[in-house]
Amino acid sequence: MAFADTLLSESDAHITMVDRLGKPGGHWNDAYSFVTLHQPSAFYGVNSMALGSGRKDSIGLNQGLYELASGPEVSGYFDRVMNHQLLPSGRLSYHPLSNYLGDGVFESLLSGAKTQVKVRKKLVDANYFSPNVPATHRPRFTVDAGVQLVPPGALPGLWHRSGNGPMPRRFVVIGAGKTAMDTCVWLLQSGTDPAALQWVVPRDSWLVNRVTTQTGPEFFDAAIGGQAEQMAAFAEASSVQDLFLRLEACGAVLRIDPEQTPSMFHLATVAAGEVGVLRRIKNVVRLGRVKALQATQMVLEKGQVPVQPHTLFIDCSASAVEPRPIQPIFQQDKIVLQMVRLPQPTFSAALTAYVEAHYDNDKDKNRLCGSVPFPHTLEMYPQAMMASMWNQFQWGQDKVLRQWIRDSRLDGFGKLMASASRDDAKKQAIIARFKAQAMAAMANIPKLIAAGAAAG
Ligand SMILES: Cc1cc2nc3c(=O)[nH]c(=O)nc-3n(C[C@H](O)[C@H](O)[C@H](O)COP(=O)(O)OP(=O)(O)OC[C@H]3O[C@@H](n4cnc5c(N)ncnc54)[C@H](O)[C@@H]3O)c2cc1C
Repeated sequence: MAFADTLLSESDAHITMVDRLGKPGGHWNDAYSFVTLHQPSAFYGVNSMALGSGRKDSIGLNQGLYELASGPEVSGYFDRVMNHQLLPSGRLSYHPLSNYLGDGVFESLLSGAKTQVKVRKKLVDANYFSPNVPATHRPRFTVDAGVQLVPPGALPGLWHRSGNGPMPRRFVVIGAGKTAMDTCVWLLQSGTDPAALQWVVPRDSWLVNRVTTQTGPEFFDAAIGGQAEQMAAFAEASSVQDLFLRLEACGAVLRIDPEQTPSMFHLATVAAGEVGVLRRIKNVVRLGRVKALQATQMVLEKGQVPVQPHTLFIDCSASAVEPRPIQPIFQQDKIVLQMVRLPQPTFSAALTAYVEAHYDNDKDKNRLCGSVPFPHTLEMYPQAMMASMWNQFQWGQDKVLRQWIRDSRLDGFGKLMASASRDDAKKQAIIARFKAQAMAAMANIPKLIAAGAAAG
């Protein structure tokens, strides 16, 4: 939708949008009810319509930071984008509950009717990097009859069971990504005794500290100063492990258990308060992935753990982004949407649409929109950062594109940097340090990539 929104405003294109779901909003339709954005609403969504009211949270674990839209808010927002923005343009036809079959053909899930579209310009695959969410994912472990396994979305409905049989008294959360973290935080804040909560953590994760993602002027030091420190970490690190320790030292990343060395970084973003809540969980199982849930035990890659009666398992094992190789975004008569700035999927889609509308050939378009790989291991992070920074460098050379980015509501940090007065010596010093460290980082990142590759 972010791609369609910008393409409609930047060209006279007509778009046929085909989606298997019955409502706009993609994976947000299937999200657990207590989901929120990980990053501020201010720079999520489509370019032409603001999301949220620009408030800061005054209560809760995100207190003092910019609001994070809830799942229902995001779904409502995409519904408004469709009905108030895209459809009224008169240049977009929307086909919900329709499955794309390939070769320009889609099938209505309701009538079974097939429609052949004559693609005049390009086919846009907006599904290549779409996330996998718990409600629509099938666990990769076996589950014996009688074992109670639910997705996180089922938890708020547990009250239906009260009075109709025994309520679960023990909870086992399977998975260690952001969904699992949200689920553990929700359970604890809703009254679960930490001693009744067991958390299966196959790998520990580094987490983005949300304070570094704030784009209000009062966060200039934390955001731009923080970026400068991150660049310094990239410039000075001698290995990938060293890089993450430096990123932790400057407050860019957090970890839940200081005794563990994380081996995963999926750019999950948290506030320090969430980490504080998660540290209350002492019963953490680090025996690899779950292979089987049986009536009396949980079988993991590296051992077994007994299961007590009235245990409810919560499946948070869906990997939001499946590891897929990157490919060129512009492929003659096809566009495969991918990230061009990490980790900004909607900014990336909007910028890709702008480039599609205003540049002539695939070579130039791919130069401006190099695909950025999603890091699945720590070793991949320098590569992803390099690709993201290289794109940023290319955009900086193009005055018109640079201005479009500056005006785009989806670009938070550029505006924040531009807002610094030339007379503000402190802010200008931060910007100068950021630029110098970014150059030094670009020089050192190839060494980190090589060191990561050598380490396997
Ligand atoms: C819990 C959570 C929180 C997040 N928070 C943030 C955040 O704060 N900030 C941020 O920038 N990003 C965030 N993200 C990431 C961001 O939401 C996603 O990367 C992005 O919105 C995904 O949109 P998408 O269109 O690529 O994928 P999806 O939303 O999955 O949409 C893909 C669509 O394609 C349809 N489809 C697939 N195959 C077919 C077919 N054959 N025929 C027809 N239709 C098909 C599907 O039905 C679906 O509607 C978050 C993700 C999650 C899971």
